[in-house]
Amino acid sequence: MATAEDLFKDIISHSKEYGFIFPSSEIYDGMSAVYDYGQYGVELKKNIRDYWWKAMVQMNENIVGIDAAIFMHPTTWKASGHVDAFNDPLIDNKDSKKRYRADVLIEDYVAKIEAKISKEVEKAAKRFADFDEAMFRSTNARVLEYQQKIDDINNRFKSALEAGDLAAVKQLILDLEIVCPVSGTRNWTDVRQFNLMFATQLGSVTDESSTVYLRPETAQGIFVNFLNVQKSGRMKIPFGIAQTGKAFRNEIVARQFIFRMREFEQMEMQYFVKPGTEMEWYEFWKEKRMKWHRSLGLGEQNYRFHDHLKLAHYANAACDIEFQFPFGFKELEGIHSRTDFDLSNHEKYSGRKLQYFDTEENRSYVPYVVETSIGLDRLFLAVLSTAYKEETLEDGSTRTVLRIAPSLAPVKCAVLPLLKKDGLPEVARKIMDELMPDYLCQYDEKDAIGKRYRRQDAIGTPFCITVDHQTLQDNTVTLRNRDTMQQERLSIEQLKAQLSEHLSLSHLLRKL
Ligand code: ATP
Repeated sequence: MATAEDLFKDIISHSKEYGFIFPSSEIYDGMSAVYDYGQYGVELKKNIRDYWWKAMVQMNENIVGIDAAIFMHPTTWKASGHVDAFNDPLIDNKDSKKRYRADVLIEDYVAKIEAKISKEVEKAAKRFADFDEAMFRSTNARVLEYQQKIDDINNRFKSALEAGDLAAVKQLILDLEIVCPVSGTRNWTDVRQFNLMFATQLGSVTDESSTVYLRPETAQGIFVNFLNVQKSGRMKIPFGIAQTGKAFRNEIVARQFIFRMREFEQMEMQYFVKPGTEMEWYEFWKEKRMKWHRSLGLGEQNYRFHDHLKLAHYANAACDIEFQFPFGFKELEGIHSRTDFDLSNHEKYSGRKLQYFDTEENRSYVPYVVETSIGLDRLFLAVLSTAYKEETLEDGSTRTVLRIAPSLAPVKCAVLPLLKKDGLPEVARKIMDELMPDYLCQYDEKDAIGKRYRRQDAIGTPFCITVDHQTLQDNTVTLRNRDTMQQERLSIEQLKAQLSEHLSLSHLLRKL
């Protein structure tokens, strides 16, 4: 039985072998936490982005999109709090010279205790037929002792961070006797705060005033354009502005493939509301976003909400939609009630009014904001990791198939002449010409038909159209379904209607 870890490794190598994701600049041995999307990856990513965009912008009359520049005036990041507060606590091991996030070292330590608890639970579950897990967790002495230890650690860590007491964070690491995984020693430096923004110089002058940052989130491009969009689009509150684009963070702990990257893509929507109504809208967007995720068909059991106890500097309520990745439940999307923090600060730093005149109330105010923010690459990983299946077929043979929702699949159909002769390729080419304006299709005449089906399964092509000798007689082809592997015979005229029923994005949008 393959472990989740093995499965994850298989997904990563499949991604590379089949042109979904390559390590960046691989010929120079790659760069950690930077990846390139290959020929099929770029299509899947585009289709996921399109689905998000259509669900946000096309399906909501009061949400419009923008595309702001990556570079922004440096004061933007002062106003947003990123220059002062977008930090990770770092610690170095003096022997291995390796750098770690102090919070991750502590979290990993806590995860080990949690694993011990799970082991106790598993052992007990095997022993008793009528096992009550909740009861066991609340009464078993060993579990309670472990749980107490976890709570103590979390409390100490939380209060140290809240007080900005980095010496206390280091002391916690020393008290827990955490060792460097590389050198195995406890020879730690002090903990320091490390800003996650990448800085670079604009133009040729290198004084501080020419420092610009690669944006760490797309949201600020929306805030600074709030009035431009509101006025030029005559938008009435509540309304939203959506944007997709690259964001950059100098992540120290970069691991888990495309889950945590230094250059990634966000899909964000800022919803501007009347102050005092933000909690209603926060609940509204929580539900709406979850519904959107469920429409993707990745399995209801793979999602859960996680409410933030410790709020970011800008929020008065926040939660994550977590997804069960191959390495456990982790944040996929954040939904944040950001109050008027950003717009008010931009008012302060720019000296410009960023207010909305409410004609119903006959007064101006700074709107409150509810944000939905999702990482496109994380969603890509969620789609890919649930789609990847190694299946054993009835005849004992195996196939690797990507069961991606048909409307998101990179290649929509493959057109395959059964033989490379007898006029079959010519008919297949004609079908290609017919379908190419609507769908990304592939023509393949090489190897036996079974082998060609497998190649299409491996990249998730939902339909294969096979042209055979019967086609020459009655103008019919076979349409093979990737998931059921069933083939049906239909006329070339029927083909288009059949495909559009499954392949267009409206299919998914109608479920929302
Ligand atoms: P995490 O706690 O995992 O670092 P975050 O809370 O810092 O994430 P946000 O600032 O809320 O993340 O960003 C919104 C979304 O952007 C996240 O839900 C995630 O999907 C995505 N995201 C954030 N950082 C990265 C990254 N380094 N690589 C890929 N996606 C990311």
